[in-house]
Amino acid sequence: MGKCYFCDDAERMNWTGYFCNTCDEIKNITKVYGKERMLDILQTICLRDQEQLENKIKGLKKKSNTISKDDQDVKYN
Ligand SMILES: [Zn+2]
Repeated sequence: MGKCYFCDDAERMNWTGYFCNTCDEIKNITKVYGKERMLDILQTICLRDQEQLENKIKGLKKKSNTISKDDQDVKYN
């Protein structure tokens, strides 16, 4: 049927369509937020440089350790 015009990976939904199911859903969500807002969301939330990634990982590990400690406290109290 041909590859999706957006991701260039999955098969298109049908012969007359240009996108796969996933990219069609992305297109529909983009219609709700607008393309400029979607691009802003992707750039500010999804794209991170190496330092931002390490900070995020450290934060998640710290949070995970805190939760584990809290769980232990609950068990022993
Ligand atoms: Zn696609």
